[in-house]
Amino acid sequence: MGHGLSCSRDADEHDLLRAAQAGDLHSLDGLLAADPALALRATIYDRFTALHIAAANGRLQVVSMLLDRGVHPDVVSRKKQTPLMLAAMHGNTDCVLRLLHAGANILTFESVHARTCLHHAAYYGHTDCLQAILAAAQAVPVAASWGFARFVNVSDEHGATPLHLAARQGHPACVRLLLDKGAIVSAPTAAYGFPGSTALHLAARAGNLDCIRELLAWGADRLQRDSVGRIAYAVALKRGHAACAALLNPSAAEPMVWPSPLKFIGELKADAKALLEAALMEANRGRERKILKGTRYCPPSPAHSAAGAEVDLCSICFEQACNIQVQDCGHQMCAACTLALCCHSKPNPTTLLMQPPACPFCRTTISRLVVASKAAAEPERQASPSLSRRRSRRSREGSSSFKGLSSAVGSLSKIGRGSGRLADGGELMDKPEHDLSVSVCV
Ligand SMILES: [Zn+2]
Ligand SMILES: [Zn+2]
Repeated sequence: MGHGLSCSRDADEHDLLRAAQAGDLHSLDGLLAADPALALRATIYDRFTALHIAAANGRLQVVSMLLDRGVHPDVVSRKKQTPLMLAAMHGNTDCVLRLLHAGANILTFESVHARTCLHHAAYYGHTDCLQAILAAAQAVPVAASWGFARFVNVSDEHGATPLHLAARQGHPACVRLLLDKGAIVSAPTAAYGFPGSTALHLAARAGNLDCIRELLAWGADRLQRDSVGRIAYAVALKRGHAACAALLNPSAAEPMVWPSPLKFIGELKADAKALLEAALMEANRGRERKILKGTRYCPPSPAHSAAGAEVDLCSICFEQACNIQVQDCGHQMCAACTLALCCHSKPNPTTLLMQPPACPFCRTTISRLVVASKAAAEPERQASPSLSRRRSRRSREGSSSFKGLSSAVGSLSKIGRGSGRLADGGELMDKPEHDLSVSVCV
């Protein structure tokens, strides 16, 4: 396809693409002043324009200059790749943001696997780019017929969603972000991996424990089968990922799942949510330590304990720092106890509707959880609705709600801050499916 024309290529065109790659604004300016049409010239084979090359190489100023000179943000290469896709592949978040600001279309499909910029950001594990694209998708309609939820779950030609790719390539932060934004945890692929694979199957295949932990915490079903009837456990076993297999074994202890009642108590603020998420992941790491105890995969025990530190201890478990507060009544507890409380909130038996959890101290329905404020935790301030240690003990004796809760907390009590990351023999990730070198072809 190249026609061997390199000898006849215009020297200015070559210089322009070189300048875009190197971020040489001065040369670029001079060349474009002499011949503005150069801005749309492309490399011979891949048909990458100066904007593609600048976006792939993170040359923000060049990207801005070209866009300001009227170059269309959605100019496509031979494989129908846009500059936005290349910036997302290479993790150049500044360029992603600049292109989005210029109106780049996030719902363009390249012709290799029919993937979008969201697929590329997820595949290569660029969480910031993923975040930027998702924020753009939330801010403006993705397309006339595409809502945000559909965009998060957009499939490529093999039925792989961004979540599938992030799980397969072992990017737990991308997995978490996508799940948080509404990626369907149980969605099967069409032909990607083994047909019918879920993200859990793909993470098991890659042997990535961190991705498996994220997926399980978001409710991935260990018993879901792919099209040949295998559960993720069988995939991990076959690939020799022993630690992953141990956790995916359906007979191993159930992981803690992000509790659905939290969806009923109003939008959680980011800081309170982060505390609860951290507590949940630590609880699951504690479960992993128990499952893997005595094996060579067992991670070191956590050194962390709230005891002895200058913190107000939770009045329920007396182990963790009191860091979550029920906004209406001001009662405080630790994130782990909050989670246990929400996990144990059962649907109303007559209506089967999920009931919002109640404060274990005063039975007020919890409508909002926030990060505990220091002032409310001062034990001297009896006028405030916060609890002194003494008062909480009385409540504990008198309230049946503590009984279920304290047993639930039992499973959460050995919580720490160990990394939980395990060496798993490490199968290599897929080889990158695209040649990432975007340079001037000479
Ligand atoms: Zn607690
Ligand atoms: Zn209360």
